[in-house]
Amino acid sequence: MMIKAPSSALRHGLRAVATACTALLIGGSAHAQALDVTTSFSILGDLVSQVGGERVKVRTLVGADEDAHAFQPRPSDARNVGGAALVVVNGLGFDDWMVRLARAGGYKGEVVVASAGIETLAMTKDDAHDHDHGHEGEKTRDKADAKAVDPHAWQDVGNVRRYVANIADALAKADPAGTSAYRANAERYDGELQALDTEIRAAFAALPAERRKVVSSHDAFGYFGRAYGIRFLSPVGVSNNAEPTAQGVARLIRQLKAEKVPAVFIENVADPRLIERIRSESGAQIGGTLYSDALSKAGGPAPSYVQMMRANLDALHRALRSAD
Ligand SMILES: [Zn+2]
Repeated sequence: MMIKAPSSALRHGLRAVATACTALLIGGSAHAQALDVTTSFSILGDLVSQVGGERVKVRTLVGADEDAHAFQPRPSDARNVGGAALVVVNGLGFDDWMVRLARAGGYKGEVVVASAGIETLAMTKDDAHDHDHGHEGEKTRDKADAKAVDPHAWQDVGNVRRYVANIADALAKADPAGTSAYRANAERYDGELQALDTEIRAAFAALPAERRKVVSSHDAFGYFGRAYGIRFLSPVGVSNNAEPTAQGVARLIRQLKAEKVPAVFIENVADPRLIERIRSESGAQIGGTLYSDALSKAGGPAPSYVQMMRANLDALHRALRSAD
């Protein structure tokens, strides 16, 4: 039996495959397939992009100015998340729906928890109570008191440095050929974060202690407050979904007046009407908008994590520094 020489078309095909393989081996980022990473919300999406650079394609389910607490997944979201090469979540109960979506969509890989290893902040009893707006009564509330953790850890830049290290480790594991690129990106970005952290600390340290208190829509700034010495009060708990009680709002307004809280803030992900009402009944000023759980759209004041923290710093500092 004779073995025929490969046809010209086949030879061409083989050559094309060989060329593609070479491109892949060389690892030229323009030719290699980008790692498909799916994240839950816009802030985390930016952090993954900073570390992943050109080697990753980041998809984010809850976009700019959208509220992750109120996210309602569509059936297509499960399919999309299921097909990802890597799934990254915040953790701490913020985006458990993402883990469920990934599994429902057939994702078999590791779900990376970006916040792993940070020093968590417990919700206060009041927060846990407000958070538990369900109908299961004492049992749920006791459980919430025992284990509830504030998920908004990204509001402390120190925590985000840990997020970045975790993301770099996870990307290197998923795409070993990119390890040195991920390490270099993470190192560069970590330097930026360190400078940002120092800048925020210095700006607030210069303010008188009695003026370092504000009201925001929901309890998203516990970590910010702990790190930078600002006291945040809010009419609802850590979940933006929770309905504030009439007593809770009345209590907050009394507290605002008694403590002479200088400013109240609207959040980009929350309905401003409640804050407007608190402002009108308390006589405090509207200090502006804080970016709590989402970036702004491109072209807005907070399209990246670093810009978001700077925008929040500027708004808070402007409202708290003047004594008029
Ligand atoms: Zn929140």
